[in-house]
This record gives sequence, structure tokens and C-alpha cells, in this order.
Amino acid sequence: MAIRNIREIGDSILTKTCRPVENMTPRIQQLIQDMLDTMYENYGVGLAASQVGVLKRIVVIDIGEGPVVMVNPQIVETSGEQTGDEGCLSVPGKTGTVTRPMYAKVKAFDENMKPVEIEGEGLMARAICHECDHLDGVLYVERMEGELRDVEYEEEEQS
Ligand code: ZN
Repeated sequence: MAIRNIREIGDSILTKTCRPVENMTPRIQQLIQDMLDTMYENYGVGLAASQVGVLKRIVVIDIGEGPVVMVNPQIVETSGEQTGDEGCLSVPGKTGTVTRPMYAKVKAFDENMKPVEIEGEGLMARAICHECDHLDGVLYVERMEGELRDVEYEEEEQS
């Protein structure tokens, strides 16, 4: 298990376009495992490779239904609309309102470069769109309606 350092807003790597994975290698499979470990360690629901400083088109998502790996994902269908709060491990402690499709369908490859189709509604559709945006160097703050707000934690802070 290896936790990688998460790049934060202001780091120029987050604005860069990621390159497709041509061939799966043990090194890339290790990267995918590290991305999952890093996402779970930070209680995220998704992570893109650029967020750990690697400009490859790889995304991991887990909305609480198990890990989903997407290599070279392409959104092939969307429908509907949802408006809600979104956060990002690269924008820690903040949230903002973003409108996304209610449904999204993706064609991608898994960690063995087997073609997969993934679809989701609600939070899954939001996560798919958010993470695929990262691969094109787009952060949610660029799609946000209104201002970035501080996340309100339920627990009182101990001083
Ligand atoms: Zn993000």
C-alpha cells in the first residue's frame, strides 16, 4: 500500500491535459493501486492520475459500491441534469455548487486493458464527469455557480 501526495489547486499539473495509456504495464497497475489507496486514505469518492502528478488518462471512483477503474475513459452518453455541492481532494476543505448530467455512460478500459462500459446516475454520474474533467485539466471550480465555500464539519473543532 502506497499513499501518494495529492496535488492541490494552484499546482499547474492540474491544468494539463492527460495522455492516453497505450499499453498496460506493471508500473501503471501499481499506479492504479496507489491511486485507490490514496483515494480511500483521504475519504475521496474519486481520483484522477493528474491529482497524484501523473499525466495519464486514468480515473478511480468508489461511491461506496466498490472500486471502479477507468483507463482512457470517454463519456459517450449523458442525460438529465442535477445541481448540487461538489468537492475535490485537490481543493481541500472547500465545496461549491455545480450542475452536472443526472446520467452518464462511459467507455473505458480496466486495469487489464479489457474494454468496459460503465454507467451511473446521481452521485456516480457526478463523479464520472468530475474525474473525466481532471483528465482535460479542468477543476470543478471552473464550472461552479457562485462562490467556493468552506466545508462545515459536524464535529466541533477541538482546541
Ligand atoms: Zn477532483
